[in-house]
Amino acid sequence: MQWLLTHSFAGKALAVRRVTENHGKKTPGVDKVTWSTPDAKYRAVKKLSRHGYAPRPLRRIYIPKSNGKMRALGIPCMVDRAMQALHLLALEPVSETCADSHSYGFRRDRSTADAIEQCFTALAKKTSSQWILEGDIRACFDEISHSWLVTNVPTDTVILQKWLKAGYIEDRQNPWKGARWIRARYFHREVARHWVFAADTGELTAEGKPRRLKLRKASDVPIRRHTQVHGNANPFDPAWESYFEDRYGLKMANALSGRGKLIRLWLDQDRACIVCQQRITAATGWHVHHIVRRVDGGSDAWSNLVMVHPDCHRQIHSRGLTVMKPAPKRGL
Ligand SMILES: [Zn+2]
Ligand SMILES: [Zn+2]
Repeated sequence: MQWLLTHSFAGKALAVRRVTENHGKKTPGVDKVTWSTPDAKYRAVKKLSRHGYAPRPLRRIYIPKSNGKMRALGIPCMVDRAMQALHLLALEPVSETCADSHSYGFRRDRSTADAIEQCFTALAKKTSSQWILEGDIRACFDEISHSWLVTNVPTDTVILQKWLKAGYIEDRQNPWKGARWIRARYFHREVARHWVFAADTGELTAEGKPRRLKLRKASDVPIRRHTQVHGNANPFDPAWESYFEDRYGLKMANALSGRGKLIRLWLDQDRACIVCQQRITAATGWHVHHIVRRVDGGSDAWSNLVMVHPDCHRQIHSRGLTVMKPAPKRGL
């Protein structure tokens, strides 16, 4: 089954789509390649072959941590990211089914908020533990046993071994500026709060001061109720399908709060994009497309609107696709 998935055209196309629609899509690896055109993406799908595959080293860069030290980040090439996305497609249903019910890092459909809720549940009782041990394993991913991984991870071990041996290349393209430069560049003093992570946008405010984007403090964020994900919930198990549908719905309602028309659009399309039929979620994002263009007299009425993924929307316009409103699948 995993073999079939990682060798199928559909799996490869989905993998390329994943890595060309996420936030890092414009950040290249050591080969300086990004896939920005439909043509490049199509050639990429055909290139995703196991035969003769040799991953490139990671491009290692450093980003500042809030304590003034630097954190190393490894950036793979697009083709290696796509290959990893392809094999994740086959691995994740297995790992999600076997994983600890209360682990939250790097898990599908689980978030920091779920981990916080679980901490609260475990710590709020009178009889709860009084001490918490927080461990940060030094160089965890550098030191972890490769032979253990190859023996225990249920994936294509030939490919896994190649990734483990890929290594990295230090990127000295951006000269090392030192902690002081980074502090001056990214951390700005604010009243009563030092070390605020922020960057100038280059614009000016109405008062003529530089407009800054700043990282918000957790305590600045209004408390919003979060329902913790059920420990045994598995997004790949059909028995949990309606459970996750409700959660996606809640998240979407949060993202669309106060926008009843959009929620209705989303539900009428059975939560799917009308171009690719894949689900639209708060995480994928969405655009609202006018079936009859506004410049041609199309209105903002519900009957003239459809919800699509941002990339699918670009396709409608660049390829001049005609779309139709699907018949609502739900009763009134
Ligand atoms: Zn779509
Ligand atoms: Zn449009």
